[in-house]
Amino acid sequence: MSDISRYLRQQKERFGETLYLEEQILREAELAAAGLAEEGGTVTEAWNTARTLAQLDELICNCTKCALGETRNRFVFGVGNPNADVVLVGEAPGAEEDKTGEPFVGRAGKLLDKILEAVDFKREDVFICNILKCRPPNNRDPLPAEVEQCEPYLHKQLALLQPKVMLALGRIAAQTLLRSKDSLTRLRAETHTYQGIPLIVTYHPAALLRNPNWKRPTWEDVQKFRALYDERMAAAAKGAQA
Ligand code: SF4
Repeated sequence: MSDISRYLRQQKERFGETLYLEEQILREAELAAAGLAEEGGTVTEAWNTARTLAQLDELICNCTKCALGETRNRFVFGVGNPNADVVLVGEAPGAEEDKTGEPFVGRAGKLLDKILEAVDFKREDVFICNILKCRPPNNRDPLPAEVEQCEPYLHKQLALLQPKVMLALGRIAAQTLLRSKDSLTRLRAETHTYQGIPLIVTYHPAALLRNPNWKRPTWEDVQKFRALYDERMAAAAKGAQA
């Protein structure tokens, strides 16, 4: 039992009914101390009740559900427009991101900005995040257990944002999101669905820095992505008029 609920119970025992202390208040205090909350009669982890991205960030930024919580320098929630219709997802923070707390910074981040600008998106229009919110040591691939612990946070981010389209950046992000072992070439060839949202796959900007030959196919992917976005926005506008 937490200190606060112990205190409240002691006060209730001492003062009985004269103390304004409902059972419900005690229950809420106990649940809060355990990192839980109750909504519509269902007990859930507190972060699940967040109503905004900022609230969610606050509720999960000290997460230590997996071992990466012990080795990270900065928790990397994601950045961008809280009303974004477009979400970009990478696999996990790298060294720069772990230092700054922001995804896709440094040279790869600058290249990503250029890729976005090429199809008339600005960084501030979209939301950018990773599947894992903490950096795996030495940039190793995310482990299945880490993905299992962290991916529900991404689901919650998407539930709050309700984007029209998603872009997965890089093979690992795409394979992890889609639970697939297919090659990047194969994954790029189709439009997928993740959490009910259409998703296109392209190269990670860091890979483009290593191999500029991949810029051309990336350009084709983002053109396709832009066309899908325009199509989805037009359909949403039509639906709103009907
Ligand atoms: S990677 Fe995700 S689950 Fe693991 S500690 Fe960080 S926020 Fe928590």
